[in-house]
Amino acid sequence: MSSILPKKFSLQLLKWILEQNNKIVLSRNNRNIKTILILLPRCLQYFSCEFNLVSSIENCRRCGKCKIKDIVEFKEKYKLENIKVAPGGRLAKFFVEQARPDIVIAVACELELIIGIKEIFPIRTLAVSNIVVNKPCVNTDVEIRKIEEFINLLVKR
Ligand code: SF4
Repeated sequence: MSSILPKKFSLQLLKWILEQNNKIVLSRNNRNIKTILILLPRCLQYFSCEFNLVSSIENCRRCGKCKIKDIVEFKEKYKLENIKVAPGGRLAKFFVEQARPDIVIAVACELELIIGIKEIFPIRTLAVSNIVVNKPCVNTDVEIRKIEEFINLLVKR
């Protein structure tokens, strides 16, 4: 797509598609949701962090150098069973197949989110774009408030 459209325009288009996706997902009846899977990209973890979060997010020591700390706290606050860090699309799909969630809250870059939404359809996905701080794919950031807003919409009904 980037070869056809100007980069800025194509990013805006991807963001718009994700917004429409989220609106559609939230407009549906989400009352019977029992299992939520939160899928996070590896680039959200502080690059020099030595702990293996792919095997378990519980390995985070909550030092606060990255937003994983806040997300681990959501695990306890909202009693979420399924929070996974996936270094790529294949493992992300594996985690979805393993958890068989009713809904996924996924954090990734815009293009990966759109590919992922299509891959796991008909399972619904609420998409949260990550924020590139310096270089792409290293030490990315995310709007934690947005993730919590989605969790609240799904668990407090
Ligand atoms: S908050 Fe957790 S994942 Fe992030 S750098 Fe600290 S120990 Fe590592």
